[in-house]
Amino acid sequence: MGMATVYRTIKSLAEEGWLVRVELPGMPDRYEKAGKGHHHHFHCRLCGKVFEVEDCLEEIRLLPPKGFVVEDHEVVFYGRCPECAAVPR
Ligand SMILES: [Zn+2]
Ligand SMILES: [Zn+2]
Repeated sequence: MGMATVYRTIKSLAEEGWLVRVELPGMPDRYEKAGKGHHHHFHCRLCGKVFEVEDCLEEIRLLPPKGFVVEDHEVVFYGRCPECAAVPR
């Protein structure tokens, strides 16, 4: 498959609700399977891979000052993945 075909396929899957677009700051948009539930991401600065982080803290919603209504949030961790962290620099 050519890139254009892949892109069209992804786009139509997203339109049909099979995939959701994930926007990470400073990264090209990613697509993930829909219905996975709330999760976060870890971006490895060395290899550039993005990993999913399943956990969330309930307290995170309490961070904005009083009066703000939180509807959603994104958390992106930056650092080194286990593979990259194992390589001495
Ligand atoms: Zn890495
Ligand atoms: Zn969360």
